[in-house]
Amino acid sequence: MSYEAIKITDGAWRIENGMVRCFLFAGSEKALLIDTGMSDEDLASEVKCLTSLPVMLVNTHADGDHLGANARFAEAYMHPAEFTYYYSENPDRLPPARPLWEGDIIDLGGRSFEVLTIPGHTNGSIALLDRANRIIITGDSVSRAPVFMFGEHRNIRAYIYSMKRLLAMSDTFDTVYPSHGDFPVGIAELRDLIYAAEALLRGELTEEESPFPLHAKLYKSNNVGFYF
Ligand SMILES: [Zn+2]
Repeated sequence: MSYEAIKITDGAWRIENGMVRCFLFAGSEKALLIDTGMSDEDLASEVKCLTSLPVMLVNTHADGDHLGANARFAEAYMHPAEFTYYYSENPDRLPPARPLWEGDIIDLGGRSFEVLTIPGHTNGSIALLDRANRIIITGDSVSRAPVFMFGEHRNIRAYIYSMKRLLAMSDTFDTVYPSHGDFPVGIAELRDLIYAAEALLRGELTEEESPFPLHAKLYKSNNVGFYF
């Protein structure tokens, strides 16, 4: 599965990789690569075609479909609550994990991203907020594609609090960049996900068979849903 870079705005690309999406942002001093998709192809070379700046790799979380080409980079930044999961994936192949903390500012020179912890989809899931450009990158937590909320590492109650945290900050962004499904999404999807997650916990959503072989059922509400 190859990588397809699509320019969003000057110095910003979404890199489509089959079912998953990575992002690249270039400032004046360095570039930020967010996730490496599900392929293990040479994403580092693809990125070099787009920018000659030094590249910092950040993983929004440690699900395998976001780490595919991590081995092409020297290190990967993520929240330390994700380290156990990260090193359980494929420790010999992955570069070392480095810590990113709540409130850290990733300064690219002329463009910066603030780290927000949003546990729930995984314990150490993060969002990256670019206040100046009013965008937020949320990994898997906000999308129209159904969010995986079953199995180890997931906690839907924490997820609801995290999404309410983002909604309370929604005066700081207009646009949400998701890792899966339609691009972009926005505050409407965030509201729909909170509504759907609470309805799911109350037993109000109808169970559907998953279209994939998963040990989970699909629950849909409005434009969003969960595998739970
Ligand atoms: Zn994912």
